[in-house]
Amino acid sequence: MPAAPGGPRLLLRRLREAMAEPVSPQARLDRIVTLIAANVIAEVCSVYVLSNDNILELFATEGLNREAVHLTRMRADEGLVGLIAQTAEPLSLSDAQSHPSFSYRPETGEEAYHAFLGVPLLRAGNTLGVLVVQNKTYRVYSEEEIEALQTTAMVLSEMIASGELQALAPGTGPAARRPVSQRGVALADGIGLGHVVLHEPRIVVKQLIAENVDREVERLELAIGEVRSAIDDLVERGDSIGTGESREVLETVRMFAHDKGWLRRMREAVQSGLTAEAAVERVQSDNRARMMRQSDPYLRDRLHDLDDLANRLLRTLIGHEGNGDRVLPENAILVARSMGPAALLDYDRTALRGVVLEEGGPTSHIAIVARALGIPAVGEIANATALCDAGDAIIVDGATGEIQVRPGPEIEAAYGEMVRVRAKRQEQYRALRDRPAVTQDGVAIGLQLNAGLLIDLTHLAETGADGIGLFRTELQFMVAQRMPSAAEQQTLYEAVFAATGDLPVTIRTLDIGGDKILPYMPALEEENPALGWRAIRIGLDRPALLRVQLRALLRAAAGRPLKIMFPMVATVDEFTRAKAIVEREKAHLRRHGHPLPSDCRLGVMVEVPSLLFQIDEIARAADFLSVGSNDLMQFLFAVDRENRRVAGRFDTLSVPALRAFRLIAERAAAAGCPATVCGEIGGKPLEAMALIGLGFRHLSMSPAAIGPVKAMVLGLDASAVAAFIETEMARAGDGESLRPALSAFAKAHGVPI
Ligand code: PEP
Ligand code: MG
Repeated sequence: MPAAPGGPRLLLRRLREAMAEPVSPQARLDRIVTLIAANVIAEVCSVYVLSNDNILELFATEGLNREAVHLTRMRADEGLVGLIAQTAEPLSLSDAQSHPSFSYRPETGEEAYHAFLGVPLLRAGNTLGVLVVQNKTYRVYSEEEIEALQTTAMVLSEMIASGELQALAPGTGPAARRPVSQRGVALADGIGLGHVVLHEPRIVVKQLIAENVDREVERLELAIGEVRSAIDDLVERGDSIGTGESREVLETVRMFAHDKGWLRRMREAVQSGLTAEAAVERVQSDNRARMMRQSDPYLRDRLHDLDDLANRLLRTLIGHEGNGDRVLPENAILVARSMGPAALLDYDRTALRGVVLEEGGPTSHIAIVARALGIPAVGEIANATALCDAGDAIIVDGATGEIQVRPGPEIEAAYGEMVRVRAKRQEQYRALRDRPAVTQDGVAIGLQLNAGLLIDLTHLAETGADGIGLFRTELQFMVAQRMPSAAEQQTLYEAVFAATGDLPVTIRTLDIGGDKILPYMPALEEENPALGWRAIRIGLDRPALLRVQLRALLRAAAGRPLKIMFPMVATVDEFTRAKAIVEREKAHLRRHGHPLPSDCRLGVMVEVPSLLFQIDEIARAADFLSVGSNDLMQFLFAVDRENRRVAGRFDTLSVPALRAFRLIAERAAAAGCPATVCGEIGGKPLEAMALIGLGFRHLSMSPAAIGPVKAMVLGLDASAVAAFIETEMARAGDGESLRPALSAFAKAHGVPI
């Protein structure tokens, strides 16, 4: 393949003409392979397209036997072409036949050719097929030749992705549109069927081939300059980019923005005749392919950063900032790299059927909000945003953590059936609504709801819960555009009390900081935000904020009982100080003649392990305790609840965790202090069964969990599970998980889990 007359620019121009000709798709493809072969001076040029059923099919060839077109079909892991499809990397060989993966196909007549160069046809990191050129001589292809063929491949990828070739292979669609099934982690239960809406719409590059190369070079340089200075500014200001990206990420992005290799590859792609945006996408597509195959999480994250940067560059080139439009079409399934809880709350909930994230662990706040809203959600779906296009049919299975993109009719029917079965089960749970949650041996269990928004309170009547065990006040603050005033807060709490009537409500004071950022408060730069200035720590250091909230609560609860609890308390002293602030506010209101709550109880969230070693004192000081198991487990096991890499490293039903829960239940009971569990584990039937066995009589959970947990309670013998768990804990050692033993217990005793 010696230097070609005219080079890649001329070829791209010819390809553009070929793309515009009003001919059949097959004729166009035939013309394209002829053009490529002539331009790069190769005897052979062939296109293989990866189909729905994972078969690589010869779609067009110049040089090989044309009879073989649509006849030569190989599994996607077969031969050199399969190897390229699998690795998504170019492969250049001077003697193809001596390569161990070479697979001889007599119908093609390729035995005459020795030199072989194949490149993947990529789109958004997904392999759609393979483009191959071959020569008779034993020759080595140069770097420039490989690069040029990759650029050409991009044009073909777009042609395949457009669906134009679908008609050529009856019964199969090209892989770009094939169904994809992926498993991540379940974030919020439920099954959602709908169509993809990209949270940050991918930028579609429409114009691939440059009309004027010099002008495109100029555009690319300008855009790079603009993106660089924007990032430099951000780093210098030490600011965050809206979503709270840390300085470290920014520094890395800045480093990439100056990365010579990356810039060189984009410049070369423009020089070869692509438009500036096509050049960015061409290089980005390679990066994405590498990212998808990268198993080292650190390197994968770095490739993600690079992907971000490429997106910024594309946005700069195209001249818009994505769409800020939060209106959704019917049956929308949101697909995002990551998303904060506030962003989710911005969407129209009535149209939202599901959420799919590339990131996000089960106890992240987005997961909690999705559960509160009853929206099925799945996290940790690698490359989700590239897997699907806007408008694609998609199913989110929030029970198993699976998604089905562009599902076939059988899958769709199976899920449709599952939705019907679930609806029936929900009906059965609804039938339990008015039955008190009492175990077989007569132990009453209080089942309450976790809430944070007014909309959550509608679930009270639906589920028949005994009240609100945890009202996360920060959610209201997180969705507001500015700090809610004292009057606004009071109005909100009045609405909460009006909606809950006589049922008890436990209000938690602001739990901000960590990952709960208020958009209107400057984000702090902290090395370890989860261990940083958050929750009660802010409340005590800046009492004005806490005072305003307490006063609003006390006034809103005038004449009715009020329960307030404080998050992230680490010492008894912190609680004592918080209590003093409440007393001061009460005195203030009394002095000004305001009516007070009929009864005001103050509680403590047990979520910092230091409280386990002051458990008697805190149980005596507080009117009630509430175990925040999400944070307690995070700190007890030193496992970041938001970090997917470590999320699976411990089990909440392992002996150390159970001992912590038992200690709280026992010491609280001894002090006559009521204790609730309000973390996520309280809403899981098996875990809830264990907690009852350890002595807890109050659980607070998301609305969807009330039915399943109540069904479990009704089938349970509390003293039997207590005896069982005691024996098992005495027997087990080594931090062993009692999950299998507890599951077996439930099965043997007919407890519905
Ligand atoms: C917890 O930590 O378990 C809890 C209930 O609080 P949050 O999830 O809001 O931190
Ligand atoms: Mg917490």
